[in-house]
Amino acid sequence: MRTFAHRKANGLFRPNKLLYMEIISNRILNMAESETLAMTAKARELKAQGKDVISLSIGEPDFNTPEIVKEAAKKAIDDNFTHYPPVPGYADLREAVCLKFKRDNNLEFKPEQIVVSTGAKQSIYQLVQCLINPGDEVIIPTPFWVSYKEIVRVAEGKCIYVKTSLENDFKVTPEQLEAAITPKTKLIMFSSPSNPTGMLYSKEELRAIAAVVARHENLFVMADEIYEHINFVGRHESLAQFPEVRDRVITVNGVAKGFAMTGWRIGFIAAPTPIAKACNKLQGQVTSATCSIAQKAAACAMLLDPATSDDIINMRRIFQQRRDMVYQLLCDIPGLKVRLPQGAFYFFPDVSSYYGKSFNGQKIENSTDMAFYLLNEANVATVMGSAFGDDACIRLSYATSEELLREALRRIKEALANLR
Ligand code: GLU
Repeated sequence: MRTFAHRKANGLFRPNKLLYMEIISNRILNMAESETLAMTAKARELKAQGKDVISLSIGEPDFNTPEIVKEAAKKAIDDNFTHYPPVPGYADLREAVCLKFKRDNNLEFKPEQIVVSTGAKQSIYQLVQCLINPGDEVIIPTPFWVSYKEIVRVAEGKCIYVKTSLENDFKVTPEQLEAAITPKTKLIMFSSPSNPTGMLYSKEELRAIAAVVARHENLFVMADEIYEHINFVGRHESLAQFPEVRDRVITVNGVAKGFAMTGWRIGFIAAPTPIAKACNKLQGQVTSATCSIAQKAAACAMLLDPATSDDIINMRRIFQQRRDMVYQLLCDIPGLKVRLPQGAFYFFPDVSSYYGKSFNGQKIENSTDMAFYLLNEANVATVMGSAFGDDACIRLSYATSEELLREALRRIKEALANLR
């Protein structure tokens, strides 16, 4: 690996002609771009050029933030909540988060265990920075959410991928986990409901996973529950509910998905106090704290009970209707292998039976070819499965209107039928 000094000493650095490869750190050069965001940017760009692109790429509710939450934000401005908030978040927000954990998950936390950050992504980033030393092993059940891998790599952790199968609803088994654990394993990156598969673990499945974790005393779990409220099978089950792993599970959640608040950028962790303290220390050097106004809005959102809030119930009902519709449409396309997701708002169909086929001399060899083929020929933006560690699949987000979903699936079907 060439260092900056090496480049300079060898005349490879030309200050008047700054080349990306020459000036950017190896850390960033070696990092993959977020494919979910890259495909979304691509779709936006094509739309701006006047192309009729339907974007099924980003995972973002197409609903508006509840009115009451918007009002709380407006009030925060009027009340002059415009100064630096405390680093881990306002006390009332952290208390509201504790209340949420008690109400929705029957988990007891103290405000000092909560750190509020600029989205669950930053929460996960900080957590990994705080737990992982170079060479520590991190188990990532695959398929995984796109940023887990890069977040671990940037901390110089070693990603240990545990491949799950469509036949097992993309869920990792306790036996698989046990087999992947070594004395160097520090963390498991776990999510339920899962992005990109939409699958979720039952209480019994979680209990079995907790039993494996409990047997290894230096092992921690990052439990990503950001899709908690988009669950079509019943009550959300948290991994942290099992006493034997209670002090080794760090639960990550936020307001983006469940409350249609992606742009507000509020995520949080509930962690053992020493871990929360470490994340707080890091955050103090990185962002100081997250946006004061967004925090006040989030505190209001936390008080909405998902069991009775019309906004949340309505959103979930609509997502479920769309899921059922898209499932029928996908089942209607020859050659796809597809599971019925139980939560989140994604499908992750296996499209590999089309690999090796061509259209107009363009051969589809992998999920990237497939995603670009669908973008260019069908004007539908998806995300390649390789971004999530499974090249046989592509991810479709159904967080858009039924009308657009119908049209997108019609186009996909037609484009796939053209492959020979
Ligand atoms: N989490 C969403 C997704 O997977 C938003 C984009 C991102 O941060 O990756 O599409």
